[in-house]
Amino acid sequence: MEKYNFQYALPDKEGYFGEYGGSFIPPQLQEIMDEITEAYLKIKEDESFLTELHDLYTHYVGRPSPIFHAKNLSKKYGAEIYLKREDLNHTGAHKINHCLGEALLAKKMGKKKLIAETGAGQHGVALATAAALVGLKCDIYMGEVDIAKEHPNVVRMKILGANVIPATHGLKTLKEAVDAAFEGYLKDPVTQFYAIGSVVGPHPFPMMVRDFQSIVGQEAREQFQTMTGELPENIVACVGGGSNALGIFTAFLDDKSVSLYGVEPAGKGIEREGEHAASITKGKPGIMHGFKSYMLSDKRGEPSKVYSVASGLDYPSVGPQHSYLKDIKRVDYRYIDDTEAMSAFFELSRVEGIIPAIESAHALAYAIKLAKEKPGSSILVNLSGRGDKDIDFAVENFGDEFGIEL
Ligand SMILES: *Cc1c(COP(=O)(O)O)cnc(C)c1O
Repeated sequence: MEKYNFQYALPDKEGYFGEYGGSFIPPQLQEIMDEITEAYLKIKEDESFLTELHDLYTHYVGRPSPIFHAKNLSKKYGAEIYLKREDLNHTGAHKINHCLGEALLAKKMGKKKLIAETGAGQHGVALATAAALVGLKCDIYMGEVDIAKEHPNVVRMKILGANVIPATHGLKTLKEAVDAAFEGYLKDPVTQFYAIGSVVGPHPFPMMVRDFQSIVGQEAREQFQTMTGELPENIVACVGGGSNALGIFTAFLDDKSVSLYGVEPAGKGIEREGEHAASITKGKPGIMHGFKSYMLSDKRGEPSKVYSVASGLDYPSVGPQHSYLKDIKRVDYRYIDDTEAMSAFFELSRVEGIIPAIESAHALAYAIKLAKEKPGSSILVNLSGRGDKDIDFAVENFGDEFGIEL
């Protein structure tokens, strides 16, 4: 990487991507967000910050992550399929890219503690890792039900020195963890830093997390050209909040020849409310969690219940830049259901010897469909994470179908 910078056209000063984004929060929090924005805009021009972050990407995360030409898969489906291997990063996914950025910023702002909510524990583990490295305390809020379900990640966070705080009200899952984390944050927004886990939330988070993730596409653009002499014709990424997708898309937004596909989780089918999390495909513009974007909501405007086999994808909205990219038709948003994703999960494991995260398997499943539609074309898939976390679940629930006996 010869040059490293975060100079992108959007959002505007108020954090808008077209009509989406912005900041819809109580006034006392707005003051804090303004401070974070100001601090971020300053350090993103600071050579020593950029060097420090880049050194960590190289020597701690193990960047650049390679691009692998999946030749067995390519041969089987008739297009050239390439994988950007974010699964090989330290901690096993792309989330470490923005957690390190947020942790360094918090440290430079003089904050003492990083806090966040987590569902399955992936964001919690990445943040606890960054906190340990940078030397900050870390509180991770997690629903009591999820704590019981995601035992290995809970243990990981504790070994890394984080405090895991159970959310004990309501359904005791992600939504309650968000409430609890927000409550914890409001008690002391001055010494704590709420590290949002995707390109969502009020300004400046959609911009900042996008910037920290954009390393993925910057690398991929150069690597792909070195490998093939060309740009990829298609790029595919899964979309939960949308950070790994924007991470790889951003460097290609101006390349009109490159088709971009964001893949949402269709769960058990997009026709039934509560059984999917296809926020762009089935949602409408609205405001929740401090920003305006496409969202799934019920009649009262409350966030809908959402579901996906991939717990990292079940969020009832999507980063505001995705809503903008949908409206201007720069990115095509598609969906993949549980069955298709699980089939791609086992397919990649067996054909290429790579066990993907179930989240990433959604992108892969769509790439396989695309290969049939556009035979001979090149398809770059962002393999956002590895599937170690998913193996027990996969075998218990889908093992029969794929001939696995334990
Ligand atoms: C969290 C997660 C996602 C979803 O988050 P985005 O912000 O949409 O990228 C996707 N893949 C993996 C492996 C994850 O851990």
